[in-house]
Amino acid sequence: MSFKLPDLSYDYNALEPYIDARTMEIHHSKHHAAYTANLNKAVEGTSLEGKSIEEIFAGISAHPAAVRNNGGGFFNHNVYWSVMGPGGGGEPTGELLEALNGSFGSFADFKSKFSTAAATRFGSGWAWLVKQADGSLVVNSTPNQDNPLMDLAEVKGTPLLTIDVWEHAYYLKYQNRRPDYVEAFWNVINWEEVARRFK
Ligand code: MN
Repeated sequence: MSFKLPDLSYDYNALEPYIDARTMEIHHSKHHAAYTANLNKAVEGTSLEGKSIEEIFAGISAHPAAVRNNGGGFFNHNVYWSVMGPGGGGEPTGELLEALNGSFGSFADFKSKFSTAAATRFGSGWAWLVKQADGSLVVNSTPNQDNPLMDLAEVKGTPLLTIDVWEHAYYLKYQNRRPDYVEAFWNVINWEEVARRFK
């Protein structure tokens, strides 16, 4: 049983004009494909073969860097694709909105905090909305391909929303203007999927 690159549930051009088709195509078919292939190579013939990615993350500090980097790259992109979609944007509703209000004060305050985490992550990494074990929501960011499911993460919990802030996620369209990409991201968020993860 090996890890498989998932198909996207929408076309490469579906997130235009916020995320361009060429970036989506390279990001999915080259970057994500490479992380997936390299993860399979890294676990093949080891005690990790056949384990779920969540099981692997739970003990990631004991495993080689290739598993950490490519496992994170495999998983994080799966979350990223799923929390975006055509016709996205707007604001969440219901229990998720109530939880965001409870943890951050308002949706606007959450948005500001998440955008700042994404814009200020030094170098390559990800920003996250995380549901912690006690049910509270928190925003943080991780370096490289780390994520909140890894045993070595500063903030641990269930990832609800994420944005990739590696340059490969935005450089073709936005060049060095990461904050512009982060602002555009709010127009493609699939809040139904975020709410599903919250439940
Ligand atoms: Mn990426």
